[in-house]
Amino acid sequence: MNYMRMSRLYAPTLKEDPTEAELASHRLLLRAGMIRKEAAGLYAYLPLAWRSIRKIENICREEQEAINSQEMMTPILTDAELWHQSGRWDAYGPELMRFSDRHDREFALGPTHEETFTDLVRSELRSYKQLPVTLYQIQDKFRDELRPRFGLMRGREFIMKDGYSFSATQESLQECYDEQKNAYARFCARCGLRALPVAADSGQIGGDTSVEYMALADAGEAALVYCDECGFAADTEAATAHCEVIDDAVAELTRIETPDISSIADLATFLGIPEAQTRKAIALIDSDGKPWIVMVPGDHEINDVKTSHVFGEYHLMTDEELELAGLQKGFMGPVNVPEGVFVAADIALKNSASWLVGANETGYHLRSAQLGRDFEINQWVDVITAKAGDTCPNCGHVLSGARGIECGQVFQLGTKYSEAMGATFTDADGKEKPLIMGCYGIGISRTLAAVVEQHHDEAGIVWPVSVAPYEVEVVSLDAKGEVFEAAENVATKLADAGLDVLLDDRKERPGVKFAEADLMGFPWQVVIGKRGLKTGMAEVKCRATGKRQDIALDELVVWLGEQIVPARMGLLAK
Ligand code: ATP
Ligand code: MG
Repeated sequence: MNYMRMSRLYAPTLKEDPTEAELASHRLLLRAGMIRKEAAGLYAYLPLAWRSIRKIENICREEQEAINSQEMMTPILTDAELWHQSGRWDAYGPELMRFSDRHDREFALGPTHEETFTDLVRSELRSYKQLPVTLYQIQDKFRDELRPRFGLMRGREFIMKDGYSFSATQESLQECYDEQKNAYARFCARCGLRALPVAADSGQIGGDTSVEYMALADAGEAALVYCDECGFAADTEAATAHCEVIDDAVAELTRIETPDISSIADLATFLGIPEAQTRKAIALIDSDGKPWIVMVPGDHEINDVKTSHVFGEYHLMTDEELELAGLQKGFMGPVNVPEGVFVAADIALKNSASWLVGANETGYHLRSAQLGRDFEINQWVDVITAKAGDTCPNCGHVLSGARGIECGQVFQLGTKYSEAMGATFTDADGKEKPLIMGCYGIGISRTLAAVVEQHHDEAGIVWPVSVAPYEVEVVSLDAKGEVFEAAENVATKLADAGLDVLLDDRKERPGVKFAEADLMGFPWQVVIGKRGLKTGMAEVKCRATGKRQDIALDELVVWLGEQIVPARMGLLAK
């Protein structure tokens, strides 16, 4: 085996932090000479990054092969005709990158390939006896993202593993889906990622139909809640919030003067009560133009995604619309609602007997308003954002909050595409039925960024062995003579033992070499210098712990092999 010489490596490092990079992963991948920007959302992977990408892809391949999922490759270009058949040519919107060829025939650069794979199998998977089948590819995908940003995190061209399963029965789809969930958890763990499988839909259709694999990181774009006790985890946008709401003292309906109160925080302070004991009212107009006030626990916010599931393309009322509806900003509530205004309330309030609400009168609130006695709710809705401190819907334990990077998603598609595109098979009973599908995606390039987000420090990247571009960097303190020859010798022996080795053979000051070794973040550094050679020792530094120790040159290969080879499997999946 060969080792790589740093003097020949194309890894143009940057001395300064690039100003455009907000996230650690973006900044460090640029600084370590691993990626370069071509245009917004388009990046070149330089040799070091490409080595990591290939390792991530291979982990993905091994885990897919283990569940009989087969790798293949389809064209990136997709015919508009297929997108018309599925109905997504119009539905996909501006994210789909479209163009015409010289004959004015329309195409799109694939953002995902449900149509392609459904088309591929529809004339050949004809009998239940051929099912199930799972196929996947690892390929560049294109999405004209509104805001491409954060380097590899949200690109317009990115590397994705996309897979599709075709089954005859729901049970078979469930099996394929469960196998993929296992493979995804193992994939994340083997890449060194602390990741949570997170329910990605509210489960309204019932059961578990989609899970996102979220690498925990403060820089993540997704907000999550999770339970330490039972393992429940959900996107705050998908989760139904179960929260402790505090009843107001149950008594007569009491009108209280609350002057100069403009927020829930003010109100709680004024009355000396927790915010959870108040009720917040949000005024909106739904997609049909109907005015609503939506009552939610005082300490929770309405969530845009969930709210639009209920009210369609809604908007919050403007000052003019509030006036027109007869509503008073800051003093709205469900009692004595103006004519024509509907009242909705979040299901988190369903069991609350006594509410503290606005009086629909400027400067006044009502205490101990009771459902049924003092007001009615026209519709119960699920619209608030779950948050840390809410209770777990499974076990009642208190939920924690975290942010996450979505590295992968598995999804039970059912017959959405097969029905639209006429992909049917003959079942055992002789009947024609649509194929039952699942789809499974992993963002390979985003995973690389997520690994760096989780594994870095002040000095640079700290690669987990499993995805490190090189596993060992041999640093020669001289660029010629006895020390250099010894370093070459060590590099050869380590490479012969099957380790991925880089030799820093440059005529640079040791300080420069060490700083770059830390920046590039190879898991092990072996320093060969004059002093150590005298006693037959090399200084070995572990990048992750910073610990340095002297190891005898003739024990180095075995010693490093023992550290590195088992670590190639990454963290073991739980
Ligand atoms: P997001 O919500 O982050 O836009 P998505 O849910 O639209 O992602 P999927 O359609 O589920 O993405 O694609 C599968 C995987 O591809 C995602 O889990 C993610 O890891 C990756 N991915 C999606 N969009 C991008 C992008 N613009 N750049 C890099 N990776 C991406
Ligand atoms: Mg997704």
